[in-house]
Amino acid sequence: MKKYNFTAGPSILANEIVEEIKIEISNDNELSILEISHRGKLIGDLFEESRQLLKDLMHLNDDYEVLFLHGGASLQNTMIPYNIKTNGSASYTDTGLWATKSIEESKAIRATTVVSSSKDRLYSYIPKNIEWDEDGYLHITTNNTVSGTQYHDYSFCEGKRNIIADMSSDILSRHFDYSKFDLIYGGLQKNLGTAGGSFVVINKNLVEDLLNVPSMLNYKSHLDAISILNTPPVFAVFVSNLVLKWIKNKGMDYINDNNTKKSKLLYDTLDNSSLYFGLVDREDRSMMNVTFELTNLNLKSSFNTFMNEKGIEGIEGHRSRGGYRASLYNMMPYSHVEYFVECLKEFERTC
Ligand code: PMP
Repeated sequence: MKKYNFTAGPSILANEIVEEIKIEISNDNELSILEISHRGKLIGDLFEESRQLLKDLMHLNDDYEVLFLHGGASLQNTMIPYNIKTNGSASYTDTGLWATKSIEESKAIRATTVVSSSKDRLYSYIPKNIEWDEDGYLHITTNNTVSGTQYHDYSFCEGKRNIIADMSSDILSRHFDYSKFDLIYGGLQKNLGTAGGSFVVINKNLVEDLLNVPSMLNYKSHLDAISILNTPPVFAVFVSNLVLKWIKNKGMDYINDNNTKKSKLLYDTLDNSSLYFGLVDREDRSMMNVTFELTNLNLKSSFNTFMNEKGIEGIEGHRSRGGYRASLYNMMPYSHVEYFVECLKEFERTC
């Protein structure tokens, strides 16, 4: 039976990308990308091309450089407070589980201030009117994968610098002016490919020569070594390279419109139903992770069985939040959301 993958990450990959991966690693006559030296031209070119593709798709100039590193988005929670030596304090907005983890890591390293939080209502909204120490840096999580909220109003960034964004779950998902941030990072395993690495897009003006930062945690040493300081996450970057080409080929207009259409269809379905309801404030709803719950909790067990029989995978909410969550990352076709919506309606009709 066909499975429909709504998991929050590692996410769905486009069929054509899976086919390309198969061809690469099953070529009997050549050594595959998994078996060759990372010091050779092929891997050097793969990294260079991937860096350029990402920077082009983000419309960033040469002030910015791209790194592909190990350690997922989580290691960046450590590297950022270690490396970014601004005069003022490290400010964070607390918008949910992943933001909280960033805050905890920063606290272990330097003085850290939480400038706003939506914890009072289970992270069901994005706090507005943020103010912070502008001599320092501000860290935000643009899309909150667990709670299903997303920043849509960026007016607080106007004219400000040193803003750092965890964009793990909404990178390249819509038209966006990335130049408002000086550091953008995330895991590769949602909109940019599969597990095993992270992307860090950094304004070089932010990078200093820091003698007291160990080299594997030091942006300067990774920049000097153009992401190949040690054996890099080659397979993850190879998959990202295919995904970036796929995005370029489709075009950002298509990606933007498809993601808008998918999330609208699902939210409209929830809003027009008496059995389902969305878990976050409408104006802060995520286009990537749609969280919802049933009005009648007694139906949960039969709902789970029904969706399972329909081949719908990965819609259980995060263990810290409960409810349900459907993730609609870039490579999910519109038709999968149409199918899911039909299943939701059929369950409501028959339950
Ligand atoms: N930030 C966000 C917004 C995430 O969604 C995740 C993973 N789901 C992380 C950070 C942590 O990513 P990783 O597992 O790559 O460390």
